[in-house]
Amino acid sequence: MPSNKRIFIIGGGLSGLTLAYLLSTSKYSVTILEASRRLGGRIQTKRGKLETPLELGATWFSDIHQNLLALLDELGINRFFQFSKGISLFQTKSFEPAQSFYVPESESPSYRIAGGTQNIIKTLLKKLDDVEIHLNASVSQVKDLGSEILIETKDGKKWSADKVVLCMPPHLVGVKISFLPDLPKDICQLLPTVHTWMAGSVKFVLEYEKAFWRENGYSGMLYSHVGIVTEMYDHTNVEESKFGFTGFLNSGISSYSQGVRKELVLKQLASLLGNQILNFIAYDDKVWTDEYISGGPQIIQRPHQNNGHPLLQESYMNGKLYFSGTETATQFEGYMEGAIISAINVAEKIKSIV
Ligand SMILES: Cc1cc2nc3c(=O)[nH]c(=O)nc-3n(C[C@H](O)[C@H](O)[C@H](O)COP(=O)(O)OP(=O)(O)OC[C@H]3O[C@@H](n4cnc5c(N)ncnc54)[C@H](O)[C@@H]3O)c2cc1C
Repeated sequence: MPSNKRIFIIGGGLSGLTLAYLLSTSKYSVTILEASRRLGGRIQTKRGKLETPLELGATWFSDIHQNLLALLDELGINRFFQFSKGISLFQTKSFEPAQSFYVPESESPSYRIAGGTQNIIKTLLKKLDDVEIHLNASVSQVKDLGSEILIETKDGKKWSADKVVLCMPPHLVGVKISFLPDLPKDICQLLPTVHTWMAGSVKFVLEYEKAFWRENGYSGMLYSHVGIVTEMYDHTNVEESKFGFTGFLNSGISSYSQGVRKELVLKQLASLLGNQILNFIAYDDKVWTDEYISGGPQIIQRPHQNNGHPLLQESYMNGKLYFSGTETATQFEGYMEGAIISAINVAEKIKSIV
């Protein structure tokens, strides 16, 4: 039974939902406030016109991601290997034809989640019957009232909490949330400098009726220093009944319209894999620069800058405020594994105190 200890989780991505799951089996009353109109954050699986699960966000993981593997097992979610057999292509220079190469089978290939990465979000949600979830709830202020915390959202709604866990990129916390009284100077200075992994990246997906490239001996893998598509992979589903590609676009093109991006993707791929590319069923892409991941351009000296920083492991407002989210993890920061590790850490801290 929920107790009257009110724990508020800010952000309904993998970290926030995992934390809610870990706390919901205990005595706390848990509420999630999520700014956007969907759960999942940087996990976003869209369905094509033929129902192919198409990943616009997180997709791959491997045997080193032990906490993610354990959570998938616990939730009964299957995984499968990323397909990589056949001829792969590498475009090195604009004035040379693409080079073909074969990738030898990896001893430890990457996995994908059966049914799409969103499956982990959907399955966690099913376990959260006792958790209150508010979408379109963008937190803008966190006020320490001494015995409790007052949370305010952009639309003026207010909630009282005993503990608050910020499960969102620290950079966004730094630029979007005001704290009363101010947090200590060192953490205020740190927050805007914490690199948000994959902010600004551009992912695309294409859906097909058949995996014609497999029939022609291709793996679907492409790496390019030349075209708009910089990386691409086969995106056939676990049952091998739905087909497509996913990959990354050069992030320099994020100001192009989606129509122009699509045209350039198709042109590049048709020149490499033939005109069957043009018989696609669905195209989509996503530029990850929206307000839910980015608080504006970040000047970053190195990837993962200040991820897992010691100040992100501390609690604030006299033990009432915590940081979680993948950028706070001290291992596998930026990845799904980091999101889960951060949730496990904070859940342990809260359970040991409350
Ligand atoms: C294109 C792309 C590809 C990726 N590929 C991989 C991959 O292959 N493998 C891998 O392991 N990882 C990958 N990642 C990273 C992975 O998606 C993240 O590590 C993980 O999903 C982060 O989870 P999180 O809960 O920490 O943060 P998020 O998913 O960012 O969740 C934070 C949540 O907080 C919400 N929020 C933001 N501001 C507020 C506010 N003011 N009030 C309330 N809520 C707020 C957001 O809307 C969001 O739902 C990829 C990410 C992207 C973008």
